[in-house]
Amino acid sequence: MEDLSRRGFVGTALAGMAALTAKAAAQQPAEPKAFRDPFVYRFKIGELEAFSISDCDLRLGEGLDLMWPVEERPKMKEEMVRHGERAGPLPLYVNILVVRSGSDVLLFDAGFGKGNNPKMGWLQEGLAAVGISPDQVTAGFLSHAHADHLNGFVHQGKPAFPNAVVYLLEEELAFWRADKPDFSKSKRNQNQIPGMIKEVRGHFDTLQEKLRPVKDGTEVLGGLVRIESAPGHTDGHACFRIRSGDAELLHLMDLAHHHLLMFADPNWTIAFDHDPVVAVATRKKYWTEVTGKHTRCYGFHLPWPGLGHIVTEDDGYRWATEAWAWG
Ligand SMILES: [Zn+2]
Repeated sequence: MEDLSRRGFVGTALAGMAALTAKAAAQQPAEPKAFRDPFVYRFKIGELEAFSISDCDLRLGEGLDLMWPVEERPKMKEEMVRHGERAGPLPLYVNILVVRSGSDVLLFDAGFGKGNNPKMGWLQEGLAAVGISPDQVTAGFLSHAHADHLNGFVHQGKPAFPNAVVYLLEEELAFWRADKPDFSKSKRNQNQIPGMIKEVRGHFDTLQEKLRPVKDGTEVLGGLVRIESAPGHTDGHACFRIRSGDAELLHLMDLAHHHLLMFADPNWTIAFDHDPVVAVATRKKYWTEVTGKHTRCYGFHLPWPGLGHIVTEDDGYRWATEAWAWG
């Protein structure tokens, strides 16, 4: 009797499982969605709610060939090996900082923008995930006009954030609007430059009504954000200092493109710098300041979510990542 009932139970259970399996198979999407979670991280700057949204999953195929000076590349490779970093393509993190302040939503650069490549342009999706629609963004901040920072401010030939003004340093606007923007000191592939200038000017035309060129040291939104000149990567490259009460976050933007290389030796530069000599001087000035004051920093191209401190180590520096925290 006991035996029979057990067999009955097993039979029923098997039938149930078969039905469940069939149901699961019917619900299975034909093409599984690319898995990229998490890509939004929530944190606080004092009382302010902030988010770090990853905009892409990209690698720079040229690897250390992008880094200068050439004769230092063996030393860079040595540093990479010593830290267990993968050789070959360098990771390109693109972290977008979003800050809420009352009814204001602030956006610090806008990533690549949504195109056909599913590996990039995730900002809008990230904003939607935290319940922010494009028309709720009230203030954009543009550090400089390279594609990974500017393009997301434009969508299908129109401003992507219809109610947002976009602050930038006046030197940055003047550089791209000049008759002949000067790239003579850049190690960038010169073939890319005419197309890049054309694209930037087109986007600036689209955003014309929105752009708010300002001077170095300008504070906006009642002192919430200070816009600081940090030249070298571009003429008008800006860093942003965000304050809430006693709390401060310094957005480093493109003072560093790699979490090891630009810290181990701040003299090492990337080919994308417009003026590498000035870029190095600016980096050293900031690294000295933030290590001395123990300033909390955020990096656009540092490993997501991009929060950390800079500490001194040996003759150079180290990026000390802030551990994740929930709640
Ligand atoms: Zn960049």
